Amino acid sequence: MINELIGAGVLGAAGTFGAYWYLKFRCLLPMESSLRSSRKAFADFTAFTRETMERAYAPEQPEHYGDITNYYLIKFHKAFPDGAILLFEKGDAQWRLTNYLKHFKAEPKLLTSYKWSAFDRSSVEGELLRFDDVRTGDHQGVDELFGLFGVRSAMMCTFKPAAGGPERLIVFGAASPACFDAAQPYLRFVASQLSSISRVSDKVIALKKETEHLKSEVSAVVKELDVAGSRLIQRARERKALYEVVTKVTAPANDAQNGCAAILNVVAKMVEADVVACLLFDEAKGELVVSPGAYGIPEPERMLYSIPVSNHASASVRTFLSRKPFITADAQNDPDVLARYAKLWDIHSLMIVPISLRDRIIGVMRVGSRRPDFFTPDQLEFLTIIADELAIIIEMFTLYENLSNKAQELAQLNKLKDEFLATVSHELKTPLTTIKGFVSVILSGEVGPLNEQQQNFLTVTDQSVNRLTSLISNLLDLSRLNGKVEMEFHNVDLSELVRASVSAMQLKAREKNVTLTNAMPKGLPPVQADTRWITQVVDNLVINAIKYAGTGASVKVDGTDKGEAVVVCVEDNGPGIPAAEQKMVFDKFYRGKASVNQVPGTGLGLAICKSVVEKHGGKIWVESRPGKGSKFCFALPVSKKQA
Ligand code: ADP
Repeated sequence: MINELIGAGVLGAAGTFGAYWYLKFRCLLPMESSLRSSRKAFADFTAFTRETMERAYAPEQPEHYGDITNYYLIKFHKAFPDGAILLFEKGDAQWRLTNYLKHFKAEPKLLTSYKWSAFDRSSVEGELLRFDDVRTGDHQGVDELFGLFGVRSAMMCTFKPAAGGPERLIVFGAASPACFDAAQPYLRFVASQLSSISRVSDKVIALKKETEHLKSEVSAVVKELDVAGSRLIQRARERKALYEVVTKVTAPANDAQNGCAAILNVVAKMVEADVVACLLFDEAKGELVVSPGAYGIPEPERMLYSIPVSNHASASVRTFLSRKPFITADAQNDPDVLARYAKLWDIHSLMIVPISLRDRIIGVMRVGSRRPDFFTPDQLEFLTIIADELAIIIEMFTLYENLSNKAQELAQLNKLKDEFLATVSHELKTPLTTIKGFVSVILSGEVGPLNEQQQNFLTVTDQSVNRLTSLISNLLDLSRLNGKVEMEFHNVDLSELVRASVSAMQLKAREKNVTLTNAMPKGLPPVQADTRWITQVVDNLVINAIKYAGTGASVKVDGTDKGEAVVVCVEDNGPGIPAAEQKMVFDKFYRGKASVNQVPGTGLGLAICKSVVEKHGGKIWVESRPGKGSKFCFALPVSKKQA
């Protein structure tokens, strides 16, 4: 029993042991191995996806898309080196082989178009078609290709790149479908990755294009801003130049020549010119002649610079005649320009504008640069504005020159006249003294009795000689005063001087029945004066008062201490002087309208008074109310010297 039990136990154990090993070998071991290989496949696939995704990028240029595609295909092929990977691109209802990877080197001629209905069937993106035997069905045209690659079984998957791109197809082929289950996720993954990359890449390219477009737009705007900016700078410079020019225009006329040169200088700087010159029309010569102050032309060459207005070959002449501005990029080679001057100063770019004053054209301005094609129409316009300003200053300059020439001529004539008068007066004085002497002797009866007629004739002669003598002595005085008269200045008491003068004039006053009063106060401060000349001033004023106030009038001489000066006035109650004449009575040879034919005189007395008083640093003036009388006053500065 025991043995039976032992035998049954042994049999049971052996059965269990056998069952265990049976199960182990037949079921568990294959399962474990399949699990291990699944794990490895999973790990390989994970590594593949990680690695490829890490290296994935969205190409910014379409041609780089091929590189990333190659990278994916190579990686895929590495995972399944016995398989063949082919990439097709659809076009014209055919499929063109663009890439392939296989363990042997295929012919480049393979890269051509193929037609296989199976390709067209796989048009749903992401859908995977599988052919365990590619030789079944219609595979015309690709059997040779598949044969070359040793492909009997194939899987394929299509993907579409972004809108507009050609459809693509990846084929994974092998000798048998054994590895298809393992390769399938790779094929799907690669297709979907290449599709996404293509789409992202398309977006990136589109964005890049957009960026470039924007960039070019921005740079166009920046360029426009640049142009506007430089225009503004140009305008600002023009304004500044114009301001400088206007300042020169308003400069005094005697500085017109310098002003002209300064304007040409401003123009030269403003337009960066090498030569700037004004050619002004010389009517007498019939030529355009360079004006003073030309910029960039040496003096000796300037002298030669003139063009007859008959020379129509000259652009300057044509601008002068037509008044139309002219511009050329290369004066030396422009048939419309006289190359002579352009060559002389090595000028290429040239602008010429008319210079006109109102309706009158007076010349042209030529602006040249050694650089060809240098000036712009804007600059030509600016120059036209400057030329108008220049016209004013040129006119001022011309007028000033004419005026100063005339003034010089007049001064010369005046000098000649003074010299002539001085000589003639001097020569006349001696014979007149002789005549007067003899007439006086004859009139006195010393050389025999005279009848009434003789007496009358000689009296008229005596009066004429007196007038002539007075005129000559006045002329001599004036010519002395105009020349270098030596004054002898002393401290003079004007009360005393006036007293002497008035008492000497009393006889004349009585003859005219004029009351002459001396109202000079005593104790006036002394003045620095030449007694002889100031006495003559007082005498002249008193004589005039007696002469013009007329019979029965009164004349009063008065004096005032004004602190800095002593004022002496000779006042009468005569006819007075019309307001319009009051300014002129001190002019040489001026005689009042009422006096010319009524009262004898030379028109020199007050001119002498004015000259004498001014030589003393004083002033003389008249106050008069017609019908009420006149008051002639002069002021002399009080002497600073001790008495
Ligand atoms: P003349 O007396 O020789 O004419 P003056 O130079 O002395 O020359 O005077 C110039 C002019 O001034 C006179 O012709 C006269 O018209 C005017 N005049 C001068 N003094 C008086 C005066 N006291 N009253 C009115 N007119 C006067």
